[in-house]
Amino acid sequence: MSQHHPLLQSFGVLLVLDADSRRIQAASTNLDRLVGHDASSSPLTPEQLLGKRLVQQVRRELQGQARLAAPLVFRRGANTSRFQLRAFRSGEQVIMEIEPFQVSGQHRLLGALQEHLSRLAEMTHQEEVLAFLVTTVRKLTGFAHVGVCQFDPDWHGHIVAEAKADDEFSVVGQRLAACNFSAALRRAYVRHPVRYIQDAQAPLERLMPDLPVDLCASVLRAPTPERQRYLERLGVRGMLNVSMVCEAGLWGVMFCHATAAHEVAASVRDAVHILVQVATKRLSLLRARHEARYLKRVQDSLGSVVSATHGPRSPEQLLHDKAPIWMDLFRARGVALWLGGVVYQAGRAPTPEVIRQFVMRLHKAHPHNGPWCTRNTARHPLTSSLAMSEQAGVLAVPLPMNSTQRAWLLLFRPAQDEAPYWSMRPVKAAMPSLSVMLGRSRYEKVVGCSEAWQRVERLAAMNLGNDLTLAISSYEISMLNMHLERERKALAAANQRLEQLAHFDPLTQIWNRYRIEQAIDNELVAAKRYGAEFALLMFDVDHFKAINDTYGHSLGDEVLVALARQVEGSLRGCDYFGRWGGEEFVILASHSDIQAAAGLAERLRELLMTLRLPGLEQPVTVSIGVVAWQAEDSCKTLIARADAAMYQAKRKGRNRVEVAAGEVA
Ligand code: GH3
Ligand code: MG
Ligand code: MG
Repeated sequence: MSQHHPLLQSFGVLLVLDADSRRIQAASTNLDRLVGHDASSSPLTPEQLLGKRLVQQVRRELQGQARLAAPLVFRRGANTSRFQLRAFRSGEQVIMEIEPFQVSGQHRLLGALQEHLSRLAEMTHQEEVLAFLVTTVRKLTGFAHVGVCQFDPDWHGHIVAEAKADDEFSVVGQRLAACNFSAALRRAYVRHPVRYIQDAQAPLERLMPDLPVDLCASVLRAPTPERQRYLERLGVRGMLNVSMVCEAGLWGVMFCHATAAHEVAASVRDAVHILVQVATKRLSLLRARHEARYLKRVQDSLGSVVSATHGPRSPEQLLHDKAPIWMDLFRARGVALWLGGVVYQAGRAPTPEVIRQFVMRLHKAHPHNGPWCTRNTARHPLTSSLAMSEQAGVLAVPLPMNSTQRAWLLLFRPAQDEAPYWSMRPVKAAMPSLSVMLGRSRYEKVVGCSEAWQRVERLAAMNLGNDLTLAISSYEISMLNMHLERERKALAAANQRLEQLAHFDPLTQIWNRYRIEQAIDNELVAAKRYGAEFALLMFDVDHFKAINDTYGHSLGDEVLVALARQVEGSLRGCDYFGRWGGEEFVILASHSDIQAAAGLAERLRELLMTLRLPGLEQPVTVSIGVVAWQAEDSCKTLIARADAAMYQAKRKGRNRVEVAAGEVA
């Protein structure tokens, strides 16, 4: 921003030197008055004006540097008055600013500053820091009104602290519309944090000769005509603004106003600047601590969801359980969760249909993973045509469920109470004072806006969104698992039923003929391959027809079941037992030769004779045929020989064991 005909305030002298500080190119018109030298007389060297040592010191300190690390104090000639010199580079030039310097009070100022700084370092609340800052600055500078204006995320200003003379009109709590703080102004606030105007109405100085020079870093530069008019309207003549800049950027501005010209020594301005910097540091530290606690609280609100004791909760339950906590944490009145076209909601939220339309638009307009928000749904192009009049503020958090599908967590805020936002655009009519200005209704009412969504709230919402995504996914996975588990169990049961039907006899629950044939085949394979001998027993109940006829068919059934149980209970683990059909049974005795098998048959025969059933008044006897495996046997030949042996037993009078012909027992 180069100013071609720079105008300067008169409380200091400005010199423009070449890059090596060897030649004075121009000086402000008050040079003579302040420093006792006539600028219009013969051209002056820096050494003549400032002394050799001082000029050398400036050159040395400016080598490779943009500005002097600290101002230099010097005394000129026989004159006892002292001056303070600041120097900085501006393009190809070196600018020096010289102001009168009061020695007295310096020590007191430094001592007081030390004390103020250590007080600040102990403060634990924002209000406390701000109140201390404005009162201390007012004491140090003597301004009638000192205040702090804090910016919200939309660059509206909010006056959050003040210290003032009794007759000043209080402005604390007032809001200033963002139009008062253009982007250019905000940039200037950051780049040049201290702005001092000693007297907005004082006659201005100029440069001799009138050079083009960039003075935006100069404390002496005159206020622009717009700013002069602005201050005049406020009834302010003397002012000092100090920007409050933290790592995150411009936090706010501390302003000091006086209705008359107001002198503040350079050292006091420096002290105020340091105080503001330290206070701002303290504020951002306190804010960081506060935000960390807030983030933790938001995170904890979900911690219990993820590690739920009652197993994963459904999205509906989740919303129902957590909505009150979330509304409290996010200063919201309503919450909604849009999940695959389904809307769950709590508190004051738009209708599900409106939410669906809103989400469709969000999907298109906001493909990113960060949150989307507005504080004025009526004005925002995405929402203005939706019926959301009750919800001025929306914070929408995408929940990336998978690569193609996003769910949304929506938080709704109502419009805040109608707040007046001062819009102090320059107007023609001069206003006598700030009090009068604010006392009249020269403000815009900001209607239909919710409270702004703070950075930390958006951050917390994003964290919440991530955790919620996990919670919902884990619920869906558990649902899927539950479903799969149910399917698996049903399948296993069906398989078991099928197995039962295919392999077991429904009456006695022992193997059926099909299964025992399979077992015989397996045994034959093993016998052929490894020579593992085995034997087979076939037995048939004697005169079973008579039992049926005498006691009834159902007792006949009971006899078959009891017989099966008793035989089953007396067999070894490696013997197989099946019902061959009717009242005929087969036992496959593995690892048994003919003698062992005949012994088993005999034991069984005797055992079955002891079988007793209520209503059955006779012993149950069986006729048993026994065969041992022979090398050429098939299932068929084996069974046929066993059957023949059994028939032999029948023929020989029943209730006996018969070993197949040709096999030695
Ligand atoms: P034998 O001593 O010669 O074997 O005479 P038996 O009466 O036992 O012989 P038979 O083959 O003449 O009779 C068998 C009877 O067994 C005929 C049939 O009704 C009966 N039976 C077959 N299966 C069942 C069944 O599951 N339950 C009942 N209660 N009876 C059955
Ligand atoms: Mg029989
Ligand atoms: Mg029979």
